[in-house]
Amino acid sequence: MPRQKKIKFAQGFKHATPEEIREAIGDCHNERHYHFEMKRPSDDETNFYCPVPDPTSIDDWLAQYVEDRDTFDEWNGLRKKIAGKNFHLKKNIGLLWIEKDGDSNDRRKYLTHLKRFVEAFYYGINVTILDSVHIKKDKHGHFVESEDIIYRIKSRRCHEYDEDKAGEDEIQFRAADVIVPLNKLRKHLQDEVSCVCGVTMDDLYIGAKDSFTCGLAQGGDSIGVFSMCRYDPLFRKSAPKKRNKKITVSWEEDGIINEDTLTENDLVILERCCKIVVHEIAHMVQVGHCVFFDCIMNGSGHLEEDFRQSIHLCPVDLRKFQYLIGFDIAQRYRALLNFYESYHMKEAASWTQDMIQYITKRSHNDESEIINLDDEEDQVEDEESDHTDDILNEDIISSPNKKRK
Ligand SMILES: [Zn+2]
Ligand SMILES: [Zn+2]
Repeated sequence: MPRQKKIKFAQGFKHATPEEIREAIGDCHNERHYHFEMKRPSDDETNFYCPVPDPTSIDDWLAQYVEDRDTFDEWNGLRKKIAGKNFHLKKNIGLLWIEKDGDSNDRRKYLTHLKRFVEAFYYGINVTILDSVHIKKDKHGHFVESEDIIYRIKSRRCHEYDEDKAGEDEIQFRAADVIVPLNKLRKHLQDEVSCVCGVTMDDLYIGAKDSFTCGLAQGGDSIGVFSMCRYDPLFRKSAPKKRNKKITVSWEEDGIINEDTLTENDLVILERCCKIVVHEIAHMVQVGHCVFFDCIMNGSGHLEEDFRQSIHLCPVDLRKFQYLIGFDIAQRYRALLNFYESYHMKEAASWTQDMIQYITKRSHNDESEIINLDDEEDQVEDEESDHTDDILNEDIISSPNKKRK
């Protein structure tokens, strides 16, 4: 059997040393939640945190790009510089569903499940589900109508590469057009939501060169649109029976037990989408890519890389999120465990269960203080800073060959 050629990191990439990681976490690296060399208590051998994985394809993100190390101090310093003062996330996150006329609306319910994950991940922040956006069609083509304004949406059947694969009824919408009405909405709701995130099962593209994109985020405007179309294992395939197996998920909210029936296929799509939505929202609140660990904030160059990416935050990024929101870390893990268990996400549940066990056990012996937000700094910033574009421009997700995520 021929030996597989080893794929190299892009020239200039270097793994961070333990000392550099300690510096990246910052002055709290000794606190119990940030022990990056800790072992999972279930076997006392496996690390909670693994290094960024070696590239397995030339299209992998770190085989293509060398990114700056986004340490806590640098990130926080940059945020202060941009916002002029300290920045904390307080407002709600807005999620909305986008569908074209004629779409089956049975997947609109995904939004309810995504909301649950985003609320656990950004523990302490509420998610508001905003009114759905409908893409309509007239003799001039597709459009979205909002408050008497008509937003035209460019579309095409498929990229020329896909001529043979695409079905007759397939259609793709240009992401940059779909995002425009969201920008108006975000400005209109600026007192209530920190960002607006549109989710659709329709296929998107960026430009003539891309055969598709999984989404487009504009960090400066705090808006994004994400398509789950290519996250569906059954995209352009007919469903084998196993995929249609029904699974009941149940969860408690405000003392009421809710229940929904999903298929195995739905669960795969949802897990993939949960990861991309929280990753992209993080960009909207100016958290960049991670080069320290196998982490949900790693960049990704293509769909397979998206799918194998970790769902967990590494300690460097956990610290940024804790600082932004001010949550109790153990409570956040409990909320996430609850989510993973109800959606049968066994690996994520087992990791989180171990983490809760680790930090709970340690907390009996360790009196380190959980970092709390300084009350004086507890002001909500105007995120409309004109300068935010300078650090995060458009984030283009999942073009087949070249993609930015
Ligand atoms: Zn990370
Ligand atoms: Zn990204």
